[in-house]
Amino acid sequence: MRENEPKEKVVVVGGGFAGLNLVKRLDKSRFDISLVDRNNYHGFPPLFYQVASSGLDPTSISFPLRREIKKRGKGVRFHIGDVAEVDVTRKVVITQYEEIPYDKLILAVGTTNNFFGNDKLIEQVFTLKSTDEAIRCRNEILDRCERAAIEPDAEKRRRLMSFTVIGGGPAGVEIAGALGEMKRYILKRDYPEIPMEDVSIRLIEGSDRLLHTMSEKSSQDAFRDLKSLLVDVKLQHVMKEYNDNVITLEDGTAIYSEMVIWTAGVTGTPFKLTGTEVKRGPGNRLVTDEYCRVKGLDGIYAIGDIGYTETPLYPRGYPQLAQVAIQQGKFLAGMLNGGPTKPFRYADKGSMATIGRNRAVADIKGLHFDGWWAWMVWMFVHLISLLGMRSKLNVLLNWMWSYFTYNTALRLLLRGSQYPLRGSMWDKN
Ligand SMILES: Cc1cc2nc3c(=O)[nH]c(=O)nc-3n(C[C@H](O)[C@H](O)[C@H](O)COP(=O)(O)OP(=O)(O)OC[C@H]3O[C@@H](n4cnc5c(N)ncnc54)[C@H](O)[C@@H]3O)c2cc1C
Repeated sequence: MRENEPKEKVVVVGGGFAGLNLVKRLDKSRFDISLVDRNNYHGFPPLFYQVASSGLDPTSISFPLRREIKKRGKGVRFHIGDVAEVDVTRKVVITQYEEIPYDKLILAVGTTNNFFGNDKLIEQVFTLKSTDEAIRCRNEILDRCERAAIEPDAEKRRRLMSFTVIGGGPAGVEIAGALGEMKRYILKRDYPEIPMEDVSIRLIEGSDRLLHTMSEKSSQDAFRDLKSLLVDVKLQHVMKEYNDNVITLEDGTAIYSEMVIWTAGVTGTPFKLTGTEVKRGPGNRLVTDEYCRVKGLDGIYAIGDIGYTETPLYPRGYPQLAQVAIQQGKFLAGMLNGGPTKPFRYADKGSMATIGRNRAVADIKGLHFDGWWAWMVWMFVHLISLLGMRSKLNVLLNWMWSYFTYNTALRLLLRGSQYPLRGSMWDKN
């Protein structure tokens, strides 16, 4: 690039695993970079379930984006905003606050909850796709425990403490395991007024096994571990509807459950793409070639969960995992910076899930691990993936403290205006 030549404007939408890894590595002397995100922090979805189950403080897994981009020197501007539209003809990204022009656009907006057309569920169930959703879930669980502890009527108590997780993927298995642990170790100690038999935890999965993206052995071990935590696992059952606290399954079975946590599906984050005929691919994702370029759109790339690339090894697209997002962010930075341009290839480092204390399953390079060793590997991998030494130490300390004491200081019911004390003068419902 010649001196005084204007720099190319690169706009990156989404500061998750894909977007942040890209922005950190883009050549600031070459590009004028803008990062846009609806939040001013980078969240860590693999540990949202621990926020929801009061195992971790949300601030220990949330990282200010401004600080993260400053660490790599000047040259990146952060814009807060929810991107509702990209106008391809005018080459602008449109948020509720402004229009941001681009020469190159990188979409790294991830996915959102998929309710498969049952939009009524949005209001009725709890989800784990963002830090806010995890906090909402935590508050609901704690609020229910507090109310059950002062409820003299056993039937009402049982209703308050009826939890159902829909979806047996990693997120569903992990939150069900955390609830099982809570029932077994925490309630007895913090809420002695609630008899254990009044607490019911159920997991409903449509397919014939849990963790269907992992090995058969991992599925079986996860099933066994959840059973040992007294979680009632129902396989090959699909939820049809949820009304008045009753879940109706496809076979007509009715199950009463006052709190439902939905982890059953995701879909590409929606936003309008105007000035083009390009349509979304499977899972509402943007179809890309092996260089992360959105097919049919010049100068626009999609990385992470929002991108969909078919390859001979992954004919149904890459799995929606943090590792894919991180690797694509790094790959695209290298390519845009002018590095070698071999197609992107995902290097699978394995997958794992934890099912409470001392229990995890891991499939790494064709080998299966479970139990304590898998749990240690799981903890190590998550710790090193967290940004910043302060967060790593904070999370490690929290885990060690709860391991030895079965206690955390985080079971605080902190109500924002979105979550008033029920039945109080502020409760409009
Ligand atoms: C509960 C849960 C548990 C998971 N556990 C694991 C696990 O154990 N291991 C694993 O590998 N993967 C796990 N995943 C999947 C993993 O988190 C994703 O694959 C990964 O986050 C994808 O990265 P990304 O950068 O594409 O998207 P994200 O990390 O989702 O980042 C998207 C970013 O875009 C922003 N954004 C979204 N829409 C807009 C918009 N319209 N305007 C502006 N900004 C926007 C968001 O605020 C966010 O910062 C889990 C996911 C969830 C939800």
